[in-house]
Amino acid sequence: MESIKKILKQHSYASLNHDFFSKQLQQPLNNPFLIHVNKILLNEFGLSERSCEDLMLLFNGSIQIPDVQAISMNYAGHQFGQYVPQLGDGRGVLLGEIKVKDKYLDIHVKGSGKTPYSRFGDGRAVLRSSLREYLCGEAMHGLGIPSSRSLMIFGSDDIVYREKSETAAMIARTAETHIRFGSFEKFYHDGLFDRHKELCNYAISQYFPDENKLNNKYSYLLENIVTRTASLIANWQSVGFCHGVMNTDNMSILGETLDYGPFGFIDNFNPSHICNLSDSSGRYSYQNQPYIGMWNCSALAHTFENLISKEEIKSIMSMYEKTYTKRLFALYKNKLGLNETCDTDELLVQELLNIMEVQKLDFTRTFRSLSNILDANNSIEVDNGLENWSQKFKERHDIEITDINSRIAQMNQINPKFILRNYLLQNAIDQAEEGSYKEIDILMKLITNPYEENLEYEKYAQKAPEWATSIGLSCSS
Ligand code: AMP
Ligand code: MG
Repeated sequence: MESIKKILKQHSYASLNHDFFSKQLQQPLNNPFLIHVNKILLNEFGLSERSCEDLMLLFNGSIQIPDVQAISMNYAGHQFGQYVPQLGDGRGVLLGEIKVKDKYLDIHVKGSGKTPYSRFGDGRAVLRSSLREYLCGEAMHGLGIPSSRSLMIFGSDDIVYREKSETAAMIARTAETHIRFGSFEKFYHDGLFDRHKELCNYAISQYFPDENKLNNKYSYLLENIVTRTASLIANWQSVGFCHGVMNTDNMSILGETLDYGPFGFIDNFNPSHICNLSDSSGRYSYQNQPYIGMWNCSALAHTFENLISKEEIKSIMSMYEKTYTKRLFALYKNKLGLNETCDTDELLVQELLNIMEVQKLDFTRTFRSLSNILDANNSIEVDNGLENWSQKFKERHDIEITDINSRIAQMNQINPKFILRNYLLQNAIDQAEEGSYKEIDILMKLITNPYEENLEYEKYAQKAPEWATSIGLSCSS
């Protein structure tokens, strides 16, 4: 307990005006029990595993640190395209912040009970959704994609009702920020323009301190948010990740993946894949994510109209597509092991994606198998549908300069062997609901180093079984 007391500080956000948040304590779960602890992250925070029980009690709200006031953040947002003027942390608190190396990281507890922003909700999170968020943050991090990450997950026998009765859990997560697009939308649409500006100034001073010196620091802030978002979504596309609820209240201003709900990594490639049953129109389908990212940035940019000229906003918005396209192409080239430049590269990538779509090939396994095509020592069969394309691919590699083995290694460092498939998560959830956490341990090990062969866990790298398609995920969590 002593070690966390020394490092956990009241969040600087709590020193802003009360319009930005409400003071809020967690409502403890009864008899909480540890389900899993992220040892790697704990270690990065300089916290010892022996402190886990104490940490759990602190996150649960059973004990408090004097002078560290927890808060729930106030925000709005566009949900499925409709503006909702009042959202906010309805089931979470920003407990404080911890300095790790030269950065402050937020500590946020999710599932911690009702807040002034709970509206009709019970303030709780069920075990299954908490576990999905706990594991996926780490999976993203393992893939090199910016994300919130969780320190621990703990459960209880407290019952909450969704479609059926389930048990409540909490996660303690970290992120560079919990400020969302919807935080800016809130104050702009409420007509509180001074507050909006105050929030901009706060974000600049916290995350872009050098830019304080610039004349047009607001342009710089918006530009950063827009380009980071574009880059994040290119990252998602490159691993077949669907977020599922890209509402503006779930979009981090620092381009980190935030608020995991009914997300999914695509198994058999289908660009129009929708991972959220509540998304009947497919607004957040895989192929729509890049456009929605831009739509969300526009909704945010609109709130800057008192601070930046219309022309400037337009010019900043034009960076989205450029950044996205450049980043995605660079990622695909890297996934194909290509370092030289050739006019037909874009076509080569597009042809591969088309074949994957038509043949319904597994996204992760197809990319992982590409290095086998180049490996003369490899006898692994290439998928039938890829035969013609493989020939072009090999010929294209003839103009590469670097050593073939380094290209193979390069590809195996960007095309993961393991991905957090929904069915793997479902198995871990089913076991956890029965009180066994072994599967969580195995998944944690695999997603932490998703590029390693890990032959003893080969079955976790196989295609998803038929029943995986019947897993239905919705916003209810
Ligand atoms: P989400 O899309 O899950 O990020 O949630 C959208 C909004 O609903 C946020 O303001 C959440 O805090 C709120 N919310 C979601 N679930 C609950 C719940 N069980 N109780 C209270 N508020 C909730
Ligand atoms: Mg949310």
